[in-house]
Amino acid sequence: MAVGVDGNLCNGCAGEPDVSCVVICPGDLMTLDAQTLRAYCRRQDDCWNCCACVKVCPAGAVAPRLSYTIALYGSGVWVEPIENGFRWTFTDERGDDEVFDVVNGVR
Ligand code: SF4
Ligand code: SF4
Repeated sequence: MAVGVDGNLCNGCAGEPDVSCVVICPGDLMTLDAQTLRAYCRRQDDCWNCCACVKVCPAGAVAPRLSYTIALYGSGVWVEPIENGFRWTFTDERGDDEVFDVVNGVR
């Protein structure tokens, strides 16, 4: 798996010197496109899907991507941070969604 960035949501962290997804990636994989100033993962094969960039993005622009060999065309798995954990949305090939909120285990 790897991550994808929605170019309509990413604003390059608004020119801040510390770009959140770039700073937090443990594999030094996230970077800004010099032309568009939008983030992307420069070596998708090296991403181990820790979701740190997904969680830290203030714009909600980053999401995991399943390989087409795993997800049927039109289907997908999306994750977004919520106040106390993650929200996973599974979309099947008919476009129907199932949504699961996974709350952090720390009490
Ligand atoms: S943290 Fe989000 S908004 Fe900031 S550069 Fe990365 S993807 Fe774009
Ligand atoms: S999911 Fe983890 S390893 Fe992959 S690009 Fe994001 S922060 Fe880096």
